[in-house]
Amino acid sequence: MKIAFVLILVMICVAMIVNAVYISKKEGSVAAYCRNFLYAGAFSIILYSIFLMCNELAMATFFYGLFICMLEWLLLYFLRYTLVYTCLFTNNKLLKKTEMLFNILTVLSNTSIILNNVLHHMFRLDTVVFTECGEYWYVTGFTVFYYIHLIYCYGLVVLIMLVLLYKILKAASSYRNRYTSILASFCMLIVSDAFCLFLAYPVNVSLVFYGIIAMFLSYFSLYHVPNTVIAKILSLSIQDMSSAMICFDENKECIYYNNNAKDVFKLQDKEHIDYAFAKWFKKHKDDIKVDNIWHSKEIRENGETLYFDMEYHNMKDEKGRQIGYYFVLNDTTDSTLAYIKECYNARHDNLTGLYNRDYFFEKTAKMLKNNPDITYYMLCSDIKDFKLVNNLFGFESGNEVLIAEADILRQRLGKNVTYGRLSADRFAICMPKSKYREEDFTDCIKELRNKYTSDVYRMHIYMGVYEITDINEEISSMIDKATLAISSIWGDYDKIVAYFGEELMEKTLLWERMCGEFDNALANNEFKMYLQPQFDTSGTLKGSEALVRWIHPEHGIIPPISFIEAFENAGLIYQLDQYMWEEAAKTLAKWKAIGKEDYCISVNISTKDFYYCDIYSIFINLIQKYDINPHNLKIEITESVFMNDVDKSIEILDKLKNKGFEIEIDDFGSGFSSLNMLKDIHADVVKIDMGFLKETENGERSRIILANTINLIKELGMHSITEGVENKSQVDMLTKMGCDMFQGYYYSKPISVKEFESKYF
Ligand code: C2E
Ligand code: CA
Ligand code: CA
Repeated sequence: MKIAFVLILVMICVAMIVNAVYISKKEGSVAAYCRNFLYAGAFSIILYSIFLMCNELAMATFFYGLFICMLEWLLLYFLRYTLVYTCLFTNNKLLKKTEMLFNILTVLSNTSIILNNVLHHMFRLDTVVFTECGEYWYVTGFTVFYYIHLIYCYGLVVLIMLVLLYKILKAASSYRNRYTSILASFCMLIVSDAFCLFLAYPVNVSLVFYGIIAMFLSYFSLYHVPNTVIAKILSLSIQDMSSAMICFDENKECIYYNNNAKDVFKLQDKEHIDYAFAKWFKKHKDDIKVDNIWHSKEIRENGETLYFDMEYHNMKDEKGRQIGYYFVLNDTTDSTLAYIKECYNARHDNLTGLYNRDYFFEKTAKMLKNNPDITYYMLCSDIKDFKLVNNLFGFESGNEVLIAEADILRQRLGKNVTYGRLSADRFAICMPKSKYREEDFTDCIKELRNKYTSDVYRMHIYMGVYEITDINEEISSMIDKATLAISSIWGDYDKIVAYFGEELMEKTLLWERMCGEFDNALANNEFKMYLQPQFDTSGTLKGSEALVRWIHPEHGIIPPISFIEAFENAGLIYQLDQYMWEEAAKTLAKWKAIGKEDYCISVNISTKDFYYCDIYSIFINLIQKYDINPHNLKIEITESVFMNDVDKSIEILDKLKNKGFEIEIDDFGSGFSSLNMLKDIHADVVKIDMGFLKETENGERSRIILANTINLIKELGMHSITEGVENKSQVDMLTKMGCDMFQGYYYSKPISVKEFESKYF
């Protein structure tokens, strides 16, 4: 019987040691304390077993003493384990001090127990014989010292229980389990001990429980509790996370989903999820072998669109067997919508909603590349004098016109067509040649024109068409060519559509060549000032107009009509004009020196000059530099000054007028805003366009207009010059009408200064 019991104890002991060795591999103080109390427990059991097997009293007393010494250490280790496990002492110093105190107490108590071998002041052993199972030791003769040992032991027990109880009361419900189970095991230990005492067995059966419970505790505190805590915390944090999460088992049945998943998908229950995802799994059955990210979109019943980033994971064990699947879904609706809006804004013109320039280029290039067999047209539209709409009617009206044009394009243009707004009033369209019908566009343009033409403004839209022959050509070059086609009909109110052709190409090349030669020509004095005389009604020479001629070393005399527009377009005209103004001032100074200071010279000012140079300062400098009378240097402006900042131009002209310069309105009657010019610009002279003169020959109405215009000019306190008079009858008629001066071939063509001087001085 005794041997059987000892064998059981040895087995438990071995189990405890194996357990302790295994635990040694684990990190952390809980593991270290667990290991210690397992070793202490095993050691106590060994001591008890030796005691049981002792035959001699002294030896038995000695080993029993060691056994109860070891029990004290065991309790102490348990207390330490409890303190570390409950984390009650976050302060390490305090923990160390408490340990030290208990170590001293235990050493004192142990000393007393060891001395019992000599002094016998605590207990003694006796033998008792049980009829069925032989002779055993039993402890008796307890003295006050023994009870002190007992009180110390029970003190430790109470302390351990208090610590656990305190933690149980304090901890969150999910953690309580962590401490209650330890307290429960501890209580079982005490109960088993008491039970053994009560039963008065010859051996201490409770040691078996000690061993088992010690191993249970180590398993519980090191494996079970941490795992359940991790599981609990993970599940709580998944419930809490901002993403939606759904987990499926290997059979693709939903086993878990968090609150967010429920909200996002408006899911009612597991079946609902299984149903919704069964479709998904079916659709992606080939993709789901590997982890992946999808961007998905869901349209709600109320029409609201939601966007998600869907992360999909395929879980396998270490042997590659399927465990399950999980999805993490993030609602990206806000950021996706913001991104979509940003993309839209970056690609569309925010006034009309059409493609902007860059996106039109991109889309057109793509369309051309994708359809190499189709012949396309590039179309460009331009509203004549669109600036005038803004100036006359305000910005809002200008916008309205543009929106209306965009709407017409949207309504009329079908598939396989790209279109967009390139800049202010310029729209571009790229469409298959086969779909193009000129009438469609002229109808649209007329529709717009009728809508916006008024008494003061006559809307005209031009359209240039270029047939794309090489799809690899730069889109900007295609647009340039369509725009160039427009320039060939610019100003002609009868024409709407122009096609880019060979002539235009030649013209472009010519313009490019002339602009390339400009700097050299200016430096080499190839530009010459010609003068065309102006006479009054009595035939007296009054002045002249300075008109440029290009004396080209190869091509001879080139008239300004061939190059002025090219230089205006290229932004070169201001250099030529400044040169001409200076030539005129120089000539006036020369005439002044020979006593011919009554003669005047009128110079032309291009609208572009207002952009590129400080007209006011230049003219002031000229009269100072050449010491001439500003009255003799007259300034001719055309209605196109209205194309720019009118107020600024008027201010400059007023300042020049105040300094004594005379302002002449050129080409009056050739445009449509001439009456506005008369109103806004305080000119001295109005030059009536020669086109007017030609019409008078076959029309009574034109004659009435001409006569009244001259009269109007007079009434406004200005003088009139008619340009382009070619015969005597014209002079007579104009004289009758009250015109003050004449300029034209009837008197002279523009001639060189030298010729002018020899002819008239
Ligand atoms: P413009 O200012 O209207 O000049 C008058 C034009 O009419 C001149 O042509 C002149 O030769 C022409 N002309 C004069 N009398 C008659 C006539 O009886 N019958 C006909 N059929 N034509 C006549 P030109 O010199 O070829 O100049 C053409 C245009 O070039 C000018 O028109 C002016 O707008 C521009 N231009 C000429 N020189 C300059 C300049 O130095 N600077 C600027 N910015 N423009 C200039
Ligand atoms: Ca002129
Ligand atoms: Ca003129």
